[in-house]
Amino acid sequence: MMKQLGCLLLALALAGSLSGCGSSGPAEGQTFAMDTVMNFSAYGEKGEDAITAARERIYQLEAELSRTREDSEVSQLNQAGGEMTAVGDDVWKLLTSAKTYSAATGDAFDITVAPVVSAWGFTTDTYQVPSQAELDTLLQLVDDSRIQLEQRSDGCYAALGQGQSIDLGGIAKGYASDCVAEIFAQYGVESGMISLGGNVYVSGAKPDGSAWRVGVQAPQDSSAAVGILDLTDAYAVTSGGYQRYFEQDGKRYHHIIDPATGYPAESGLLQVTVVAGADAAREDDGNPAGTGTMCDAFSTALFVMGEEKALDFWRSGAYEFDLILVTDDGRVLVTDGLADRFTPMDGSEYSYETVS
Ligand code: AMP
Ligand code: MG
Repeated sequence: MMKQLGCLLLALALAGSLSGCGSSGPAEGQTFAMDTVMNFSAYGEKGEDAITAARERIYQLEAELSRTREDSEVSQLNQAGGEMTAVGDDVWKLLTSAKTYSAATGDAFDITVAPVVSAWGFTTDTYQVPSQAELDTLLQLVDDSRIQLEQRSDGCYAALGQGQSIDLGGIAKGYASDCVAEIFAQYGVESGMISLGGNVYVSGAKPDGSAWRVGVQAPQDSSAAVGILDLTDAYAVTSGGYQRYFEQDGKRYHHIIDPATGYPAESGLLQVTVVAGADAAREDDGNPAGTGTMCDAFSTALFVMGEEKALDFWRSGAYEFDLILVTDDGRVLVTDGLADRFTPMDGSEYSYETVS
């Protein structure tokens, strides 16, 4: 099995080698949380303090959001048997945003896919191909419109439908990146970068005023890139079937489930990268969580939707973002908003197309 390492490590390698800041380099930190390697880099007087605070915040989020920790808020909600349960600010924002992005993507993103994810063994690392009968039964539980949210005078409450459970794995790291962005702002970090297992956020530009250079990993080779993104004040989130999978009888089964079939999505895409400016997501659009959360939800959803539906969704203009899609027939599709910010890799075997 492979873990989510790719995009971010490459991003940091480039950041480190190209930052060129002489003696006053950034504060750096690395941690393992939410089942992935996380890297932080922060310039400024309070860079070290910002990274310490970011780490603590991420541990707190992991304790609230993990489905495998019995005492997490998410586990309590999953065990509540459909009863209204008090939820904190983080879970509230995530549930609200998850429902919004599920509706926006025609249910390609659905956090109530949790029982199906578990049936494949991705929750416990005990992999198996479930029977069609089991999937048919579990698919009846997949419908996030049954999640009820209520704001009362004494706080926020949520209830799942009877028998349902939720898995925030497709959106939690994006939310964590939004939370770290907030911390960087609080600590006056005007230049920095974080990479949380495929979820990259860059604060400002590099201290010399140039853009951060973020490598977009090649799906079949974790040491190679399909290209480089020049980013300032932005998020870039990558989803790919290669990030977590198992093999049985010569066939590969990955962790991004199509809620319509219960099977790992086979949409013709190997990888989806969603890129958006830091302020792209807005609360009045149903996202109280932030742009990192939006990009994370969309990277998962658009992987499920496939090339045509993903590009139709992008063209609809309903949300502000751009895309880099890698298809299973060797094409890299880059939406035109990234035309002057994406550089294909020299000597690459992919064919590159700009999409408008
Ligand atoms: P990501 O790496 O952000 O694409 O998220 C993948 C993770 O999201 C999986 O490991 C599951 O925990 C969860 N997941 C899988 N399929 C879906 C889906 N269709 N909608 C929402 N979450 C999903
Ligand atoms: Mg995601």
